[in-house]
Amino acid sequence: MQFRDLKTQYETLKPSIDAAIAGVIANTSFISGPPVKELEKRMADYVGRKYCITCGNGTDALSLALMAWKIGPGDAVFVPDFTFFATAEVVSFEGATPVLVDVDEETFNMNPQKLREAVEAVLDEGRLCPRAVIPVDLFGLPADYPSIEPIAAHYGLKILEDAAQGFGGSIGERMACSFGDVSATSFFPAKPLGCYGDGGAVFTDDDETARYLESVCVHGKGSHKYENVRIGWNSRLDTLQAAILGPKFRAFKEYELNQVNEAAAWYTEELADIVKTPVIPQNFRSSWAQYTIQLENKEKRDELQAFLEEQGIPTMVYYPIPLHQQDVYKANRIYQVCQTSERLCERVLSLPMHPYLSREDVHLVSQQISVFLKA
Ligand SMILES: *Cc1c(COP(=O)(O)O)cnc(C)c1O
Repeated sequence: MQFRDLKTQYETLKPSIDAAIAGVIANTSFISGPPVKELEKRMADYVGRKYCITCGNGTDALSLALMAWKIGPGDAVFVPDFTFFATAEVVSFEGATPVLVDVDEETFNMNPQKLREAVEAVLDEGRLCPRAVIPVDLFGLPADYPSIEPIAAHYGLKILEDAAQGFGGSIGERMACSFGDVSATSFFPAKPLGCYGDGGAVFTDDDETARYLESVCVHGKGSHKYENVRIGWNSRLDTLQAAILGPKFRAFKEYELNQVNEAAAWYTEELADIVKTPVIPQNFRSSWAQYTIQLENKEKRDELQAFLEEQGIPTMVYYPIPLHQQDVYKANRIYQVCQTSERLCERVLSLPMHPYLSREDVHLVSQQISVFLKA
């Protein structure tokens, strides 16, 4: 069994992916070829944003947004304590301070009340200037934007949506990558919509931000590539990757997103009575980057993982270390205790999850978990 089966997906889409790759090679339009602009247009339409600007990867996408807002030394940026390292890393890289916020035990996402407390703690201390918040759509579930938006508005914080795992999720009619001022996503192969290498995109409705992002991704270009009006980067999505994303995006919209939701429902049906299963709040939809259960404690979690491994069932621990306990952040000032995040790191276990997972495989995984828990 595969944790995320990219091979079956390729075999299913092979004729269209192979043709897309061959087309780019025949045209030799390897950098900024027509498939890049086409993809950007389709993605902006899909998520409901005015602009989509593709770039080299999801980490760059986050950094580019912070650069657009000139966030740097002396600024506080609020980041969940339970996420992939990159969410905080980009803040530190720009010279600003990531202020770590505890998460909600049910959704794994930033706890809005804890965000409010963290902003107040920073204001009380008076050393840093609160500038932005980066809610993460962890495991495919959009963060609680309806609660975070009024808090951000109250304190004058920009919202940068980290939708690296969130593409395809939604709250009501609003799609992931449309929340906040700017949204960032990743096309890393194992994300909900992945390419065959590194890739990412930034989304916004703001004209000025979009112009800045388009320029800074290509050496700070002005009206053309050899007029350079600012110091920029080289962060672009390869034409090959854009072409590969063409048919993959179509499959994602047409059936893959429905299929992962079906697989998640099977897991929940089989597991809800025996273990803590993920909670999707009313009106929210996940794109199921991960299906993550919670065990009683670390010992049980680690034992279950070893047991499943023996049965040929791969699982992952996302994430084993809360950000505040990562070496580079250990010396940072603590603005709040992140107890839930610490607890989750000891208890979570992500199960095999992808659109091509069969009912039989879900049953097999669930049955083995049941065998272990009853032993
Ligand atoms: C994967 C990921 C990123 C970084 O994306 P890359 O394309 O790997 O640079 C950022 N934030 C989160 C939450 C992620 O899961």
